Amino acid sequence: MNPTVSAAGIPGPAKSVDPLPGDGLAGQAVRSTEPAGPPTPPGEQDWDAVVRLIADASRIDLFAHVNPDGDALGSALAVGLALRAAGRDVHVSYGDDPLVVPASLTFLPGQDLLVPPAEVPDRPDLVLVFDAASSERLGLLRAKAAAADALVVVDHHASNTRFGTHHLIDTTAPATAVLAEELVARIGGELTADIATALYTGLVTDTGSFKYAATTPETHAMAARLLATGIPHDVISRAIWDTCRFGYLKVLSGALAAARLDDTAAGGLGLVWTVVTRADRQEHGIRLDEIEGVIDVLRKSAEAEVALVLKEDDAGRLQASARSKGRVDLGRVCTALGGGGHAFAAGYTADGDTPEAVVDRFRAELGAQAGTGPA
Ligand code: MN
Repeated sequence: MNPTVSAAGIPGPAKSVDPLPGDGLAGQAVRSTEPAGPPTPPGEQDWDAVVRLIADASRIDLFAHVNPDGDALGSALAVGLALRAAGRDVHVSYGDDPLVVPASLTFLPGQDLLVPPAEVPDRPDLVLVFDAASSERLGLLRAKAAAADALVVVDHHASNTRFGTHHLIDTTAPATAVLAEELVARIGGELTADIATALYTGLVTDTGSFKYAATTPETHAMAARLLATGIPHDVISRAIWDTCRFGYLKVLSGALAAARLDDTAAGGLGLVWTVVTRADRQEHGIRLDEIEGVIDVLRKSAEAEVALVLKEDDAGRLQASARSKGRVDLGRVCTALGGGGHAFAAGYTADGDTPEAVVDRFRAELGAQAGTGPA
């Protein structure tokens, strides 16, 4: 079980897909001038345009999504380290206040590049956003990203809304870190052990240590390139997957004791769900970012195609994380409920409802989407 990171878990970080509470900017126009349509892998002209933007910028701001997972923060820090090595004025941030690095990611190099959202200019020269499927995922930095002279969206989510002026999006990539590695190479960056550590963190986070379906031979080839720099992959993996505080085990045991199985849900495919309340966490001194791994235990249930964990945040909202084994497209389910994500892993925020009411609505949407999955 991976107490802290799981989020990402499956084909994409669950964390990365759990939308944050509204910041008052809902409905803000997408800035893209590109035609609507499914994101496509970036072409040479896309890469060239971004490399030129970087070359011409006086200052470069790199954003991860709120409550960043290993893929978002690892990708941003990897590119940040490469840009700093090239002598550029570069800063990394994400829209949380205070800016807290999740416990499982405190080993990441380059954290001295981090600045709080308030220190990002109101109208940045150039912003690159990593692993955010929509501008809502930028939290406190959403308005500053929208005001940037150029906004480059680097991502792999199929649900990406293409909210930038430029896009480096590959929905076949198992992690944003794959695109970050390419960007580092294209700006002439050397693959140092520090950069490799950050990229490897993104890669293992979003592939669940190479277990998820999006993992390809090229994924392993990338891992080989990163390991060849001499990074301590065992230490990295232990920090990400196999370390938690004792209090988390107590919260986990409560969550499992409260779990319920509904084998009629999803057209008979089955749903297992539980809730972790703010009080449950506070009793053991556990933060929201520490319970991402609960769903990775819950989703083992053989009787359930879909797993759902409702996590009450410190403001009392229910953050829903969902996982599918492939026969239900949860990206569609969670998008319909106001969130987003991947087919296998998605999430949304349910405000102002009881857990039972949230599960009822989720179950209804699940029934509507049963059989839509890729598997
Ligand atoms: Mn990702």
